[in-house]
Formats: sequence, C-alpha cells, structure tokens
Amino acid sequence: MLKNTSFLSPIAMKKISENVFCVEEPHGRICSKVYVLEGEESVWLIDSGDKAERVLSNLKKPIERVLLTHGHFDHVLGAIEGKWDSWLRQEDLELITEMSRDYAEVPKPDFFKPFPPKLEFESFKLELFHTPGHTPGSVCFLDRKRGILFSGDTLFAGGFQGRTDLIGSDQGQMDRSLEKIASLEFDLLCPGHGKIEKRARLENEQQGKR
Ligand SMILES: [Zn+2]
Repeated sequence: MLKNTSFLSPIAMKKISENVFCVEEPHGRICSKVYVLEGEESVWLIDSGDKAERVLSNLKKPIERVLLTHGHFDHVLGAIEGKWDSWLRQEDLELITEMSRDYAEVPKPDFFKPFPPKLEFESFKLELFHTPGHTPGSVCFLDRKRGILFSGDTLFAGGFQGRTDLIGSDQGQMDRSLEKIASLEFDLLCPGHGKIEKRARLENEQQGKR
C-alpha cells in the first residue's frame, strides 16, 4: 500500500541540497539511486531505479520527467514500468533493445526521447556531459549552482570508475570521460550507486593514489 502522507520518508529519502533529494537504493538488491529535483508542482528525477512503486511511495508530487544517466536496467526499469516521460541518449536506447534480447524481454519504450539542448526546470539548470565508457550513451549532469555532479555509473565515491566489461563498454572512452569529469567544477559527487561524496575528499584520495 502506498500511504505516505509526507513528501519525505525518513527511511528512504535523504535531502542532499536545496530542493534535491535521494531515494537510496535498497540493500542487497541491484537497483540504482534515484535523485529527486523538486519543483513547485512536480518533480524531475535523475534515474528511476528498477521499481516504479519504490519511487512513487516517496513522492507527493507528480513526475514530470526522468533524466536517465544511461540505459542499464537498474536505472531505467522504474521509468519503463511507470511509463514516465524520459530522456536518454540514442546509443543507450538501442542498448536496451540489444540487452533485452540477452537478459529480459523489455519492449522499446516509445516515451523515451533524446535530450533537448537545454535542461532547465524551475530553479534547476543542468549541463549535460556525454561520458561514454560504461555504456556508449552514458551522461553526467552538472548543477553548477548547487555544485553537484550526478555521475551515473561513470564515477563512484573514492574515485572508482564504473564497469567496462559489459555490452557496449569501452575502457578507452572511459579514460577520456574521467578526464573530462576531472576538469569540471563541483563540490558533491552524486553517483548512481553507493556513497555520495564531497569532492575535496575525492581529490585527496586520487592524489594519494598517484
Ligand atoms: Zn550501469
């Protein structure tokens, strides 16, 4: 039963920044984190996790749009199940079809569209960076005002990169994408899985590895 009366569930939803929340991934299951960008009347999501109900049970406002960091099932299945209007790069839309042949039967979602040139929603102005490597259509979103990078499965806390041994992965592309990310200015790394991390710590750890 979906009976949450408050916008925030203290169990699953965490405030990250002004109007930014995170639905944590459940323990012991392959499911992505879901970031919620809150507007006056509706919300945008960054990734959708693998179950629509899991997200909906935490929201009081309707979902206007989902911005997908890439096409893997643990990030897109919620949006497919909920039939939420979503943006995803074309390369990964094709990847969904290709992977569904091998793993699970997923119809090509016709409510998934390519990204428009501008990603603006009320107080949010996001910049999109194409960061292939984990998948051909992986992207990161930078919110300069809040100093947040939403990095999907390209970069995780501790400076760890995403897997590059999967269909469509490419380590050479990943190396170039990580270089691109290193040149961006942000304070907080919000990845698709695991810990959210302050940049200062990330930089220190990377320096320590050199
Ligand atoms: Zn992935």
